[in-house]
Amino acid sequence: MSDALILVINAGSSSIKFSLFEAEQDPQLICKGQVEGIFTEPAFSAKSAAGDTLAASPLPADAPKTHDTALRYILNWLRGHTAGKTLAVIGHRVVHGGPTFTQPVRVTPQVLDVLDTTIPLAPLHAPANILPMRVLAELLPDVPQVACFDTAFHRTQPETTQLYALPYEFSQQHGIRRYGFHGLSYEYIASVLPRIDTRAATGRTIVAHLGNGASMAALSAGKCQATTMGFTALEGLPMGTRTGSFDPALVFHCLTHLDMSVQAVSDLVHKQSGLLGLSGISSDMRDLHASDEPRAKLAVDYFCQHVAREAASLAAAIEGIDALVFTAGIGENDVIVRQRVCQQLRWLGIDLDEAANVQRSPEPHRISRPDSRVAVYVIPTNEEIMIARHAVACAVD
Ligand code: AMP
Repeated sequence: MSDALILVINAGSSSIKFSLFEAEQDPQLICKGQVEGIFTEPAFSAKSAAGDTLAASPLPADAPKTHDTALRYILNWLRGHTAGKTLAVIGHRVVHGGPTFTQPVRVTPQVLDVLDTTIPLAPLHAPANILPMRVLAELLPDVPQVACFDTAFHRTQPETTQLYALPYEFSQQHGIRRYGFHGLSYEYIASVLPRIDTRAATGRTIVAHLGNGASMAALSAGKCQATTMGFTALEGLPMGTRTGSFDPALVFHCLTHLDMSVQAVSDLVHKQSGLLGLSGISSDMRDLHASDEPRAKLAVDYFCQHVAREAASLAAAIEGIDALVFTAGIGENDVIVRQRVCQQLRWLGIDLDEAANVQRSPEPHRISRPDSRVAVYVIPTNEEIMIARHAVACAVD
């Protein structure tokens, strides 16, 4: 057992999640937890690696409802649970690396200044991602911090794939390109492939990260060649409450002819659309499967069809497909969505093993028939361990 610890921080707009690892050859999870509802009713919870509840309580009612308070509360709790051990490094999940950051980076005052320039690219997430770095630099000045970016994995896409067909100089000047997201998840999946399927690891693999946010990526020898999300995490697949791709001229129509404000249109496409908007019932796939309403079925149909369509488009980008991987909440758990998507992609050489598809396992497992030309896998994602690995590697550089 190691005495050195790795802390992973994933700070969102209204929550701060943490994971604590032991710094073994590959980091070993000790516990994870979060403060949720930061601006409303902040509550702390933590679980051991085995899933046992270690803590669950509201934050003191008189404490300011801020990220700063939430972070200090987490650190205090961790101090009480890590006696005799040393915090060696802190890794942060950062949604947007902008045009500058193409790999994990050690956090310095200069890096923080550059990170501030990414705020217009991710106005909801970037401030929440950056603030804990400043607070921790003050509280724990001797502990190195490493920022890990969800966009970085996609920087290997060819220029034609990263570009939009806007005036070239305009895009260059304003940092406009298809950045892509969920990169830490894809990177983790790419790190698992060599262990389970050499052909998938060295060949052409499409990964479907289907969660509340959903995207897909085409990997060639583990490197990203194309992905469905673009300048922001709105493009591509329909999601829990996000539209996915739609005709951008619709925005002008809403602003000009429907008398909507910019904020109202933004809320429409980010918060009221996707599975929720189509069904009128829920953004959660489980609720849609449980409903008899025709529009619940419509939303599921729309989702599955678009996953299949994007898969075919990504297959064109990498000139074929050797393996398909499902991951994240829907990808790992939803037997029906996987069945429907694979059915629609049979013509690509996908032959699903129905019995394997319904089997549950926390480990990576194959769900295609042995003679399926394309191997299909379910691989549970683990973005936190990817951040922990990067944090260690970057801190010792
Ligand atoms: P994530 O964002 O990866 O945490 O995924 C969250 C989403 O996964 C939820 O909104 C659900 O729609 C979906 N999900 C989780 N568990 C299941 C399940 N057992 N069956 C279907 N969908 C699920």
